[in-house]
Amino acid sequence: TYKGPSYENITELRRNHLTPNIQSYYKKPLLISSGHMQWLYDHDGNRYLDMFGGIVTVSVGHCHPKVNKALEQQIKTLWHTTNIYMHPKIHEYAQKLTAKFPGNLKAVCFVNSGSEANDLAMLMARLHTGNQDILTLRNCYHGMSPYTMGLTAHSTWRFPLAGVSNGIHHVMNPDPYTGIWGGANCRDSPIQTDRKCDCSVETGCKATDMYYNELEQTFKYSLPRGKVAAMFAESIQGVGGTVQFPKGYIKKAAELVRANGGVFVADEVQTGFGRTGDHFWGFEGHGIVPDIVTMAKGIGNGFPMAAVVTTPEIAKSLGMALHFNTYGGNPMASAVGIAVLDVIEEEQLQKNSLEVGTYFLNKLAELRDSYEIVGDVRGKGLMIGLELVSDRKTKAPLGVPHVLEIWEQCKDMGVLFGRGGLNGNIFRIKPPMCINKSDVKFAVDVLNRAISDFLAKN
Ligand code: PMP
Repeated sequence: TYKGPSYENITELRRNHLTPNIQSYYKKPLLISSGHMQWLYDHDGNRYLDMFGGIVTVSVGHCHPKVNKALEQQIKTLWHTTNIYMHPKIHEYAQKLTAKFPGNLKAVCFVNSGSEANDLAMLMARLHTGNQDILTLRNCYHGMSPYTMGLTAHSTWRFPLAGVSNGIHHVMNPDPYTGIWGGANCRDSPIQTDRKCDCSVETGCKATDMYYNELEQTFKYSLPRGKVAAMFAESIQGVGGTVQFPKGYIKKAAELVRANGGVFVADEVQTGFGRTGDHFWGFEGHGIVPDIVTMAKGIGNGFPMAAVVTTPEIAKSLGMALHFNTYGGNPMASAVGIAVLDVIEEEQLQKNSLEVGTYFLNKLAELRDSYEIVGDVRGKGLMIGLELVSDRKTKAPLGVPHVLEIWEQCKDMGVLFGRGGLNGNIFRIKPPMCINKSDVKFAVDVLNRAISDFLAKN
């Protein structure tokens, strides 16, 4: 049972002492007291099914016993040291983590957050290639540090006067749902629609070529001498609302970038560690081996840690200065990281993501087929999005107050979903990978009920 300060007291402390820029969006934000696997408990002892995992971070389950034990053992021995000494854990972990990568992706730099990982990747790409310019896709999210804020292409997350890096270009997002080309069937997802799509891969995916042509134009018009340092892309856009790209686009884009002097950076902050089900890394689903991979969130199941993995050659480009990071890969982080990798393997969580995620997608597709306001369901594994629209034809987003009504009701019935997308109308479903089919059934029943109640009222 919860023994902390009262709800009212906490609300007052929050109002008086935390930055006012934090928003909850729930009318009455939850006061979370504890968590176990896919469940969260509030101060009153109510239980919630966590379908967002602290923003795609709790990968193997809240307070997973094996991860807890690894951390407990480590804190009894040593919390922290620096890389001027050697400590076994960071070496053991570096070997275990890099073993998960194809090709020559063998060198790891440990840092503390996704933003830091992408900061470092930007620096590496520029030093390695000698080029300045970087491409990202509109609607992407790569971080909030001044450097990575330049990569992020969502006005919500961009501040004026932040001093963002120059030479960053946001190219047209190859979004087959809201974009001008493509349809549901050109995405790599187990659910297809019976709605017509003129770009199945078999008949030649028109969407991929059209978006690719747009990318080529950027090289012609915006890049000095047509040269580029890097292109960054999430394997599936997370904050942007689980946006999947038409099959083949990422592969072609990576080839174009390399042909023009650049490296391809896969941001696996949300899609890594088995979440997409079919592969351990999201980029594998695009059939590429990136030059640099950044990861955070699920890597530590909630422990603040992150990493950049690249080839020894690219890593060497930092050689002209020292790489230094006080906490990166410290004994606690490394102990947690090792335990997370072990749990994913022992409990076959990648396979679970595939099986339970596919079941989830099919159940949500039934909602899409019964309700006009469910415009789209997409994703793979446990990286799922459900887009609410006010008009199926124009795909106009459902207004935020309406979306919040449905979202809030789900919470009141015991299920926590995430929300995102430029217009805030997309349910983001990315639970701890330990969920099972009965959790899915419960979550879909709750969502079904919340939508039908909303429609009855509006
Ligand atoms: N990349 C992606 C794809 C992300 O989703 C996020 C966080 N939402 C980041 C980078 C930045 O991570 P952090 O918040 O740990 O800096």
